[in-house]
Order: sequence, then C-alpha cells, then structure tokens
Amino acid sequence: SRRDPEQREFLQAVEEVLMCLEPVLAKKPEYASVIERMCEPERLIVFRVPWIDDAGHVQINRGFRVQFNSAIGPFKGGLRFHPSVNVSIIKFLGFEQCFKNALTTLPMGGGKGGSDFDPDGKSDNEVMRFCQSFMLELARHIGPQTDVPAGDIGVGAREIGYLYGMYKRVQNEFTGTLTGKAIEWGGSNIRPEATGYGAVYFGLEILKEQNDTIKGKRCMVSGSGNVAQYAAKKLIELGAVVLTMSDSTGYVYEPNGFTEAQIDQIMEIKNKTRTTLAAYKSETGRYVAGERCWNAPCNADIALPCATQNEVEYEDAVKLVSKGVKLVLEGANMPTTNDGINFLHSKGCVLAPAKACNAGGVAVSGLEMAQNATMTTWSSEDVDERLKSIMVDIHAAASAAAKEYGVPLQAGANIAGFEKIARAMIAQGCV
Ligand code: NDP
Repeated sequence: SRRDPEQREFLQAVEEVLMCLEPVLAKKPEYASVIERMCEPERLIVFRVPWIDDAGHVQINRGFRVQFNSAIGPFKGGLRFHPSVNVSIIKFLGFEQCFKNALTTLPMGGGKGGSDFDPDGKSDNEVMRFCQSFMLELARHIGPQTDVPAGDIGVGAREIGYLYGMYKRVQNEFTGTLTGKAIEWGGSNIRPEATGYGAVYFGLEILKEQNDTIKGKRCMVSGSGNVAQYAAKKLIELGAVVLTMSDSTGYVYEPNGFTEAQIDQIMEIKNKTRTTLAAYKSETGRYVAGERCWNAPCNADIALPCATQNEVEYEDAVKLVSKGVKLVLEGANMPTTNDGINFLHSKGCVLAPAKACNAGGVAVSGLEMAQNATMTTWSSEDVDERLKSIMVDIHAAASAAAKEYGVPLQAGANIAGFEKIARAMIAQGCV
C-alpha cells in the first residue's frame, strides 16, 4: 500500500490473500521471504492503442499487460476490454491469476491484460481495427513459452479471432500464443464452456462433502456472459433451478427457473445481437432494470456471482443469507468484498473462492496449450473429463489446506496456491 495507495482493487486482492497466510507463516516462517516479491509484478507494460473509428476519427485507448509471476510456468491470463480497466484492475486480476494457475496443477505462471476500450456499441470493423492495433504492440511481449493471453470480460470468440489474426501476421508463426481460439484453428473443445462448467463441478465437490446433491437446488446466477451462460446451462442439465441472470443494465427473474431454451435466448441476445437483457421475452419471467439480481423476490440455496468484481458487497451478502443461501460459488473474479466474505463465513456459509472455483477456464486454456504443442485435438468428452478431474483436484488441495490450518475453504485455496508458488520462488533464488 506504500507503493500504490490508490490501487484499491489490487490492495483488496492482496489483503484477501495476506489475511489467510498468518497460520502458514507461523508454521513455515521461511515463506515470509517471498511475500513482498510475490506482490510486485515481474513486469507491467502500458501502451498506447490508436485506431480509426467508422467516422474516420483517430481514437486512443490505453493497453495493459501485467506479467505477474513466472515461477511455475509462462505468464498466463486473459485480456479484459471494459471502460473500467486501469492499472489497479489489471494488477488485481494478475495477482489472483498466479494463485489460480498454481491450483490448476498445470505449469502456468500468472498474467493479465486488457484495455479501457469499450466494445459496447462498436461495429465489427471498429472492434477489428482496435484488436489489430492492440496486438501490433502486444505481440512483441508474448509468445507460446513466454506469455499466453486469453479472453475475459469483453473479449470473446470474435476478439480472440481478430487478435490472433494480427499476432500470426506480425510473428509469421502459427503457435498457441492465444487460447480461446475457435476449434477449426487451434482451439480446444469445451474452452467456451470451461469456466462455467468448472464452477458447477467445484460446487458438486462441496455438496458431496456435505452428503448433498445439486438436484433441485435453487440458484441465483448473476451476469449473462460467457461464465454465467455455461454455469446456468450445466446447473439446468444437472436438475438445479436457475432463478436469475443479469447484465450491467438489470436482471431477469424466472420464478420457476429458466429452461434451456430461455438460456439460449439470452445467449442470442448477449452473443449475437449484443444488446441488453431488456430484450428478453418470456411469459413467466420479467426483467427488472437498474438492480442487482440479489434483489429478486425469491429464496435460494446457492448464489453464483458470474459478472464482475465487488458485485457482492456486505449488504448483498446479508440479503443472500436472509434468502437462505448457504453456498456461494464465485464464477467471477473477486466478486465478493472482504467484509462480504467475513459476513458469509460468520453465518456458516461456504464460499468457493474464485481462484479455485473459476479455475476451470484457465485449466482448459492450459489443455489448449498442450494440444497446440503436440498438434492434436482432444474430443469434447476427453476435455470435459480432464476438466472434471482438475476441479476435483483443486477442491481436494484447497480442502486439505483448510483442514491442515483449521481455516475456511476460501483461505485453504489461497494457502494451497501460495505454498506452491512460494516453494518454486525459494528454489529459484532471488530473481
Ligand atoms: P463477459 O464479457 O462474457 O460477460 C460479463 C458479464 O458481466 C455480462 O453480463 C456483463 O454485462 C456483466 N458485467 C460486466 N461488467 C459489469 C459491471 N461493471 N457491472 C455489472 N455487470 C457487469 O465476461 P465473462 O463471462 O468472461 O467474465 C465474467 C467474470 O468471470 C469476470 O469477473 C471474469 O474475470 C471472470 N472469469 C472469466 C473467465 C472466462 O473464461 N471467461 C475465466 C475466469 C474468470 P453487460 O453485457 O451488460 O456488459
């Protein structure tokens, strides 16, 4: 906080991890030597992104890439295009990514990037010109053994296509330097589904420990983007009831639960026509403008925040508990504020932290890298099985650390990720 007092989100993410490490340092004081280094990125790149809009005017955005920690593998983490992006957001995401990637069991370091470019309301050509300009600069900093970006908020299949096209042209090589590619040109089956599916698979492990199942569970999902869509689909497939979906304009409430066809309608709205949930049509449900979905008039068992950071503040956590929620599966990154986490724990709620719960996306990105490196494509069934087994392993590691230190699962995930990186950093000396 001495160096970056204004980086609110970054400091929040660091505080959340450091709060969990006290018992670890009491038992293993040798780890203290790496903590300060772990909070300082290896490299932060900030660059100008000039592009020309459809009216012929020059527009300027700011591009970022943080290469946070490469102790256990090449930097790896998504790109976010959203007007709220700044150094603090990128550093919080990059910091979190290090621990998440460590938990996946795959050899990936942590990184993150993006821009304050807002894809909302831009034509395809404008998005393409922006992506090309962004990549023209980023290309020199990344590579299959160096740093492998992927998607995040505002960066989906369309943007990855434009980014990869420019990367390939500039570097004159067809390598797996971006993940989230389409299946016909180097992508992995199940990558679009992976984060949402993975979060649900993680939830299944928690329920199994409680001798419970997902069937019939009433779930409130926030967001309606990539993570929310596939979390909702998997929940419905497994017999759970999905009551809400949301976007930055409001939420949709379906009192009897969304059908799969209704989720398809939401996917059409968000992925194809690219408008807002106000366009959602249903005889049973309704759209409420300007509110978070935690306000929906229903009781629930599970909440899945899958939109963005700090969307579950203290007051939201209070609301969720009053609705009967006992399990929070974090699909988004850092969706719960630290006082929200403490409140949920004080009421006996289990919180599946983002670092563990949404790691399925980057895990399948890691599998995409493995397929690219060996020039193979694995079947959907194969990748799905690997994803399930990785989520089982992540849960086992977080749960074991939680038991060892007598702390909640959220702290267990932080500890398990931290210990792996700390061991690697100590072994590699002062670099
Ligand atoms: P998308 O861009 O596909 O969807 C984002 C969703 O969140 C949209 O519904 C969007 O609404 C809503 N949203 C975004 N910002 C805000 C905001 N400031 N306030 C309210 N709503 C907002 O992104 P993803 O689904 O990929 O990502 C969602 C979360 O999951 C993020 O936290 C991301 O970091 C995390 N994540 C994503 C992974 C992935 O594989 N995609 C992997 C791991 C984590 P609108 O459409 O109106 O903008």
